[in-house]
Amino acid sequence: MIKFLDLEKINNRFRDEIDGRIAKILDKGWYLQGEENETFCKNFAEFCGTKYCLGVANGLDALNLIIKGYGFGEGDEIIVPANTYIASILAISQNGCTPVLVEPDINTYNINPDLIEEKITDRTKAIMVVHLYGQAVQMEKIWALAKKYNLKIIEDSAQAHGGATHVDILPSQSCNDKSGVFTSATHVDILPNRDYNDKSGVFTSRKVGNLGDASAFSFYPGKNLGCMGDGGAITTNDEELYKRVKAIANYGSDRKYHHIYKGTNSRLDEIQAAVLDVKLKYLDKDNERRREIAKYYRENIKNPKIILPQAYDENAHVWHVFVVRTENRDEFQKYLSDNGIQTIIHYPTPPHKQGAYSEWNNLSFPISEEIHRTIISIPISPVMSDEEVKKVVEVVNEY
Ligand SMILES: *Cc1c(COP(=O)(O)O)cnc(C)c1O
Repeated sequence: MIKFLDLEKINNRFRDEIDGRIAKILDKGWYLQGEENETFCKNFAEFCGTKYCLGVANGLDALNLIIKGYGFGEGDEIIVPANTYIASILAISQNGCTPVLVEPDINTYNINPDLIEEKITDRTKAIMVVHLYGQAVQMEKIWALAKKYNLKIIEDSAQAHGGATHVDILPSQSCNDKSGVFTSATHVDILPNRDYNDKSGVFTSRKVGNLGDASAFSFYPGKNLGCMGDGGAITTNDEELYKRVKAIANYGSDRKYHHIYKGTNSRLDEIQAAVLDVKLKYLDKDNERRREIAKYYRENIKNPKIILPQAYDENAHVWHVFVVRTENRDEFQKYLSDNGIQTIIHYPTPPHKQGAYSEWNNLSFPISEEIHRTIISIPISPVMSDEEVKKVVEVVNEY
């Protein structure tokens, strides 16, 4: 059986290093808010290119804390893709805000930037972009909208650790976008956090986690960077937000026994931080292997019944999952299973058709529904062997 994701194999590559770090924690007897958390957060901020990183308990908390940190609540609207994992939408609802769903692009599965502006009202406070399946959202139009309407950009980066978006900004480049939202000859003035631009004003790529005002990561075991339990993080360059989310996550306390918010408890523990700090060193290499497999799939799967995923930029996609589409999805899944290939569906039902959102069940998002009806994820992971990858291609091509 070719497993969808062999977590045992993935983590056992680092067994000695992880054992050593956990032994150190046992020796010290310090389990929360210690050196491991500090070290990992420093390294992860550096990896993403941001000034700050706060370790939290999970990805949903990270999203939740960002929304709380900005003070969004009752009456505020946040734009979010209709085909995301339900956590993105739950974080919005849990704060009393209204999620406003926008259809994705059927080829890339990411939010369609051209459909956002019509959903903006005077109650809109933020656009939540979700870098779904490992592919960074193309940000130029979204940066321009955020600037034009004074909106925050919240990234849900739970599926795209190490991903990037290429920004073709050259001083001489003129922008011919029809919407007229670009205000200058370069895109530079619409980028959030301009102080992070390199001095020349010319740069070509920015990492996921540093594409908006604040970003939420999950380190759920199956993610590209996963721990051995629950974990999450917030990255940002916004010092005010960082201070607020840090306090809110710590019982609303900015210093010991001094509570300025009705906060919550959300921490990344020392063991998870240590595991993540070990694995972070290998993340780029692991993502490179995922890209290699994706490239092989995209070049060698040749079956008219199978629609392959598209990448804006093959070098920047981190292929959290490899999602293909096919008309008779359930039949295809059974066929693969009968031939020794395990698959998963991310996800079978769109959020607006879930019981949790019964108020939306009559709404129609045809592109999202078409995606959910036809998608299936075939195995991709840094520990797959060349033989396994070849076998998947052979079996898919014989379907
Ligand atoms: C995994 C995931 C989350 C939630 O992360 P948890 O750590 O499980 O809370 C949020 N958004 C997306 C897109 C995810 O894939």
